[in-house]
Amino acid sequence: METNTLNTEKVQKNFLEEIIESDLQEGRVQSIQTRFPPEPNGYLHIGHAKSICINFGLAKKYGGKTNLRFDDTNPVKEDTEYVDSIKEDIHWLGFDWAEEHYASDYFEQLYNWACELIKKGLAYVDDQTNEQIRENRGTVQSPGKNSPFRDRSVEENLHLFEEMRQGKYQDGEKTLRAKIDMAHPNMNMRDPIMYRIIHTSHHRTGNKWCIYPMYDYAHGESDSIEKITHSICTLEFDIHRPLYDWFIKSLEIYPSHQYEFARLNITNTVMSKRKLLQLVKEGYVAGWDDPRMPTICGFRRRGYTPESIRKFCEDIGVAKRDNLIDYSRLENALRDDLNKKADRVMAVLHPVKLIIDNYPANQTEELDAVNNPEDESRGKRKISFSNTLYIEQEDFMENAPKKYFRMTVGQEVRLRYAYIVKCTGCEKDEQGNVTVVHCEYDPLTRGGDTPDGRKIKGTIHWVDANNCIDAKVNVFDRLFNTEKPDEVEEGKTFLDNLNPNSLTVLEGCKLERSLQNVKPLDKFQFERLGYFSVDYDSTPENLIFNRTTTLKDSWAKQK
Ligand code: ATP
Ligand code: MG
Repeated sequence: METNTLNTEKVQKNFLEEIIESDLQEGRVQSIQTRFPPEPNGYLHIGHAKSICINFGLAKKYGGKTNLRFDDTNPVKEDTEYVDSIKEDIHWLGFDWAEEHYASDYFEQLYNWACELIKKGLAYVDDQTNEQIRENRGTVQSPGKNSPFRDRSVEENLHLFEEMRQGKYQDGEKTLRAKIDMAHPNMNMRDPIMYRIIHTSHHRTGNKWCIYPMYDYAHGESDSIEKITHSICTLEFDIHRPLYDWFIKSLEIYPSHQYEFARLNITNTVMSKRKLLQLVKEGYVAGWDDPRMPTICGFRRRGYTPESIRKFCEDIGVAKRDNLIDYSRLENALRDDLNKKADRVMAVLHPVKLIIDNYPANQTEELDAVNNPEDESRGKRKISFSNTLYIEQEDFMENAPKKYFRMTVGQEVRLRYAYIVKCTGCEKDEQGNVTVVHCEYDPLTRGGDTPDGRKIKGTIHWVDANNCIDAKVNVFDRLFNTEKPDEVEEGKTFLDNLNPNSLTVLEGCKLERSLQNVKPLDKFQFERLGYFSVDYDSTPENLIFNRTTTLKDSWAKQK
C-alpha cells in the first residue's frame, strides 16, 4: 500500500520557518540573512543561546547567513571583556558568523541619516530635560504635549545637531527626536528620542563621539545596512515594530523586517544581565562562570555540552507566547547526551572503610570494568581491588528497614565488578559514628556472578582504599529557592530568594586511580551518583570535580 510520507515532515514547522519558506517561495527575498545582536554589557546566558540557535539555525536550514553584530550604542555599560566572551561562547555552542559588525561602525552613517530625517522635517532637536520629556509624553489614556522646540527650522536643527556632535552641550542638555505624533496610541511613536548626549569614552570609538543613537533608531538601521532579511527578536519588542518600520520607510532604505518570538524563561533562575551582574559584583557567586549561573560559560564550567544546550533549545521550540520552562528539561537534555558520551568510573563522595576480613591482607587484583555500556567502542579498564575499600556511608545501615538492599549485617550485596560480600558488623567511634564496616567475600563470585544462581538484590560502588586518589567535589543545587525568583513581595528583592545551600563542597572524596590525569572539562559518570566534570582549577595534585547533574531528577522528588 502506498502512503504519502514524502511531503510530510516529521517535525512541525515553527512560525518563523513558515514565514521564511513563504518569503523564499514568493520571491520576497532571494536568500536568508539573519543576525545575532548582543549588547556587550554582560556574558551570554541560556536565553541568548535560544536566540543564537534560532538565528543561526534558521539561516543554516535555508542556506543563508548570520552576522554577529554587537549592539554597542551605550558606552556606559559596555566593555571589550564582554565582546571576547560573547565570541567565545557562540563558537563553543557550535556556530560561526558570516560577518562581525559593530553598531558603532555605523555611527557616521547613522548620523548622516539623522541629518536626512531633519531635512525631511522628520526630526528635531529638543531642549527639554529628560524629566520634561517624560511628563509631556502623556499616558496611554491621554495624548502627550508637543515640545515647544518641535517647530524649529531645518537649518536650526541641523546646526544644533552638529553642535551636539561637536560636544558643545552637556549630558542631557539636548536630544534629537523623531517628529511623529505626540497623540499616537502607541507611546513608542510619540516623538521618540533618537540621540542623547553622553560624554563617556566608548570601548571602540573612544572619545570620537559624545552623541549616541538609541536602540530603536540604531537597531533597524543597522539591520538595513547589513540587508538583514529577518530581524528576529523577543516579544517585548513587538510594540517597537511600528517605529522600526517608520524609520526604514522614512529613510527609504533596505526594508528589513522584524519578527518576535517568546523569550526563554527557566524556573529557579534569573535571566537579566543586570541581575546576573549584581550576583557577580556583590559576591553571591564566584564569577560569571560560576557553575550555578545560567550563563553559557557557567554551564560550560559545570560540565554541560554544547550539544545538550542546542538540543534543549530545539526541544522547547519557538513560541509566540511567553512561558516558563522547567529547569529539569535542560538537565534531561544533558543526561541524554552524557549518557552516550561520559565514561563510567567509581568514586565515593562520603567514604567509610569496608574491610573484607577473609580476603588475603597483602593481595590485590585487577578487575575488568566497562567504560560505557552505551558505547562498546569505549572498551574496558582495570580497577584495583584489595581487602580494604571505601564505600558510601549511606550504603551501610546498622538497623535497616526491610527494603534496604545494601550493606547491613547478615545481608549479601554485590560490589560492582568485584565480588558478592556479606556484612558481618561495624566499628563505631565514641559519638556512635560508624568508622569501619566489616564483611566477608565469596571467592566464587568474581565479576559479580553467583555460580549457584542465588539472587542478590543490591549492587554498590566502591574504590580500593589501598589504591585510590583524593578529590574535592563541588555539589550544586538550584541557585534560587523559588520557581520565579523575580516575583517578590514588597520590600524584598530577588536576592531574598537565593538558595543558601546552592553549593556544598565535599573534601576528601575517594576516586579510582584512572582519574589521576584528567583535564579540565573532562566528563564522567560517577556510577550511581551522577555526572561530574573536572573544574578549571583542578590539577593532578589537587583534583576538583563539579557535579554537573544527578542521574535522575532529584529536584522533582523534593517539590
Ligand atoms: P537582558 O535583558 O538579559 O540584558 P538583552 O535582551 O538586553 O538581555 P541583548 O544582548 O540585547 O540582551 O540580547 C541579544 C539578543 O538575545 C536579542 O535579540 C534578545 O532578544 C535575545 N535574548 C535576550 N534574552 C533572551 C531570552 N531570555 N530568550 C530569548 N532570547 C533572548
Ligand atoms: Mg538588549
